[in-house]
Amino acid sequence: MNHSSDTPILQARGIRKSYYKNQIELPVLRGVDVAFARGELSALVGRSGSGKSTLMHLLATLDQPDQGEVWFNGERVDNLHRRGRDRYRNHEIGIIFQFYHLLPELTALENVLTPAMISRSVLGYFRQRKSLTARAEAMLDRVGLLDRKTHKPCEMSGGEMQRVAIARSLMSEPQLLLADEPTGNLDTETGESILQLLRQLNTEDDLTIVMITHDDAIAERADRCYRMQDGLLVDRFENELANPTPVASNPTTASQQTRTSSAA
Ligand code: ADP
Ligand code: MG
Repeated sequence: MNHSSDTPILQARGIRKSYYKNQIELPVLRGVDVAFARGELSALVGRSGSGKSTLMHLLATLDQPDQGEVWFNGERVDNLHRRGRDRYRNHEIGIIFQFYHLLPELTALENVLTPAMISRSVLGYFRQRKSLTARAEAMLDRVGLLDRKTHKPCEMSGGEMQRVAIARSLMSEPQLLLADEPTGNLDTETGESILQLLRQLNTEDDLTIVMITHDDAIAERADRCYRMQDGLLVDRFENELANPTPVASNPTTASQQTRTSSAA
């Protein structure tokens, strides 16, 4: 793909989306413009019902906007035909959810392998089974769970299930991870370990991450926050100390925010 390094990795332009209930229009996104920079860990923060998940579904091409466009690496993706959207969703981005969406009857390893199974023919999968299994094991190792590879979801904690979901999302070597309330179902300490893992994937593996949260304390851990309110982006700010380097003069200082501009 042809794009310069300052092309946003992901961009929404003029996004509008309504749901209809008994023929009454419920406007959920009322003109959202947002651009996410490559290499950053961004947070999309807002109260429950503000439209965050709806926006993420549109960014992931799981649904289509009524108006507006979604661009990935300088190419429009919302209007692609099904195969193009499948390719984008299955190969360019990874997605994780609050409730992990693991298949209960499969082991951790098998769950990590599901995207590889789905995107291949049965024969193609069996031909590559050894290398795919090795990759799935490497991804489980990456999230610190190789020793749980034969466990089924009911034999794992919430944090472990989210790690498996993260490993699964990494199978296709995505450039971008979309995470909808990844710590929303976890206690503070476990959520913290998931946040640290996401930050590691961002800095060590160069993964761009867009994380949705309703929790300001979690949003402050991102490099940049976008605040949503009633279907509109109302604010944008940088968290200067979100990712302190070990030599930072006083890394214990609470996160300081710099408002770069109002996105409203
Ligand atoms: P958030 O993720 O910020 O909590 P959502 O995007 O899930 O918000 O929802 C925004 C609004 O859209 C809410 O008022 C919700 O009730 C409504 N909504 C979401 N999905 C649907 C749907 N499939 N049909 C009708 N209304 C929906
Ligand atoms: Mg939501």
